[in-house]
Amino acid sequence: MNDLLPDEAERWEAFEEIVRDWLRSYGYRPIRTPIVEPTALFVRGVGEHTDIVEKEMYSFEDRLNGEQLTLRPEGTAPCVRAVTEHNLLFGQPRRLYYSGPMFRHERPQKGRYRQFHQVGVEALGFAGPDVDAEHIIMCARLWDDLGLEDVTLEINSLGDATERAAHRAALIAYLEGHQDKLDEDGKRRLYTNPLRVLDTKNPALQAIVEAAPRLMDYLGEASLAHYEGVTALLREACVPYTLNTRLVRGLDYYNRTVFEWTTTRLGSQATFCAGGRYDSLIEQLGGKSAPACGFAMGMERVMLMWAEGMEAGPLVSPDVYVVHVGEQAGRLALRAAEQLRSAGLAVIYHCGGGNFKSQMKKADASGSAFAVIVGDDEAAAGEVSFKPLRGEGEQRRVPVDLLAPELAAVLYGDDA
Ligand code: ATP
Ligand code: MG
Repeated sequence: MNDLLPDEAERWEAFEEIVRDWLRSYGYRPIRTPIVEPTALFVRGVGEHTDIVEKEMYSFEDRLNGEQLTLRPEGTAPCVRAVTEHNLLFGQPRRLYYSGPMFRHERPQKGRYRQFHQVGVEALGFAGPDVDAEHIIMCARLWDDLGLEDVTLEINSLGDATERAAHRAALIAYLEGHQDKLDEDGKRRLYTNPLRVLDTKNPALQAIVEAAPRLMDYLGEASLAHYEGVTALLREACVPYTLNTRLVRGLDYYNRTVFEWTTTRLGSQATFCAGGRYDSLIEQLGGKSAPACGFAMGMERVMLMWAEGMEAGPLVSPDVYVVHVGEQAGRLALRAAEQLRSAGLAVIYHCGGGNFKSQMKKADASGSAFAVIVGDDEAAAGEVSFKPLRGEGEQRRVPVDLLAPELAAVLYGDDA
């Protein structure tokens, strides 16, 4: 779990602003749910035989009533719970997003943390394939806005439950034939979650996995048409994609479209955004059956890519640092600082005393564009001085009430 110190936290805020504008531009609205949910929500929502539920959840018992609780490992199940609980799908579909910390007890490594952050997007009540394509296209736009390079889109279709069941039987039969060569995970998943065996990163299993029955070959007409519908829109929008018939995703709730964005820039944690369709989840969690799809991006991983090559240091500097020596000067300087803030400027009012020279050093180090300087002789006349700290410009002295309009005009132009 990481501390984000000011330099980094500022970059996160800048990133979050870009992301909010992007979500608004597609008509998505925010939803905020608690960080703690009943454990059963994730067992039912994410799936009993998934990595998350089997070994990654931070679960505990509520001391007061013995209820089993879990720090949320993902945001889709909580979002669906809230939407159902508050009847948000009544008569209309919803475009929603969430953003915040998630918790998974994993082995920590670069790009993999126990508290990490996701921005997730959910479109509830849409049968697609247009909305599936919208999600992928909006991702492509964000990567473009952020200037991310070397990103690849992989897409697959998981079909519907019947198609998966037929494929599952064939897959189990096939894997049973290679049982002696499977690793521990593979043996464990053979009957509980055989699709996940295809997802293995173990190089020794690649040949077996390569020759395994492909789910794509078990898709019926409707699922194929859905897949074709999504990819036709991607071609229309000029978003390149690769079909990866072994892409299955680690959560149980997906059907039909699944996709992952990967990059060569993050080492082994190559996936930074993933999602897909989950038409049965809402009903499974007790809601009225409705189709849906969504995706989540890992903010740490996207931040690593975005901030790559950015200079260290503060991202934002104050406009003005107010220097003052003397009691009367201090009072006038405080008034000047508040007036400047009312005019929309970011102002640091010097605290802690000291002479002009030491205060001016702090003003300089603050990165401010201007110093406002007030001594008792200026204060007696109701005036203050200001001086640019970067580049050219003389020190000037003005009546205190003229300071804010003057500086705003210099900083924002005359029409400010
Ligand atoms: P992985 O295969 O890397 O474990 P996942 O399939 O478990 O990923 P999802 O549940 O799909 O991941 O979450 C979506 C995104 O959230 C991932 O693509 C990744 O960017 C991010 N993410 C998941 N787990 C972590 C983690 N422990 N630390 C940082 N980011 C994470
Ligand atoms: Mg994982």
